[in-house]
Amino acid sequence: MSNCIFCKIAEGTIPSKKIYEDEDLVAFHDLNPQAPAHFLVIPKKHISTIMDAQQSDIQLLGKLLYTAQSLAAKLGYEQTGARFVINCKDDGGQTVHHLHVHVLAGRAMDWPPG
Ligand code: 5GP
Ligand code: ZN
Repeated sequence: MSNCIFCKIAEGTIPSKKIYEDEDLVAFHDLNPQAPAHFLVIPKKHISTIMDAQQSDIQLLGKLLYTAQSLAAKLGYEQTGARFVINCKDDGGQTVHHLHVHVLAGRAMDWPPG
């Protein structure tokens, strides 16, 4: 999608600190980290929100979550854990309308979120 910031990060036309890339996904550090480790995992395919995912995206969604957890483990958070978050639309607090999984780690998280 031409005016989507995360599509541009996936294409490499906007710079980011990438930590992982394959044919389907990109992971990169969040610009405004909320924990000692805070990165985002996105599909290269533009899907605006998790509620826009289709049945044909099931495999991609599985890969998105699996990659998020394996990157968290590779970065050393397998024992201490992490927070995996998908914000959706206005009430979910989504600001960038390209599906992304936040991975936050390196400190204890509060619950419930504000
Ligand atoms: P949301 O609120 O949509 O769930 O999260 C969007 C996230 O994207 C925010 O945590 C924000 O800091 C991050 N973000 C927004 N623009 C950029 C950018 O240009 N580069 C990177 N690396 N992160 C961004
Ligand atoms: Zn996009």
